[in-house]
Amino acid sequence: MCKETAGIEVKQMKEVKLYQCEICGAQYKEKLKAKDCEASHIKPVKISGMKFNSMNCGSSDGYPVKITVVFENGACVDYRR
Ligand SMILES: [Zn+2]
Repeated sequence: MCKETAGIEVKQMKEVKLYQCEICGAQYKEKLKAKDCEASHIKPVKISGMKFNSMNCGSSDGYPVKITVVFENGACVDYRR
């Protein structure tokens, strides 16, 4: 054993407990904040509309360029590419 390192104090490693939002993955020290984060996310229910470019459009790859999503609270939100 090396005499020079024998006197060095070994510190205990600190363990940290975190709670993670199951939806967005954010981590919190407090369980309640993780629960609040989960509750803050408004979940989609269905797609109520979609818009496609025609075959004649050079940039069309077959996927819709716009969709309208209905959420659990009744709101409709448009998403565009
Ligand atoms: Zn979240």
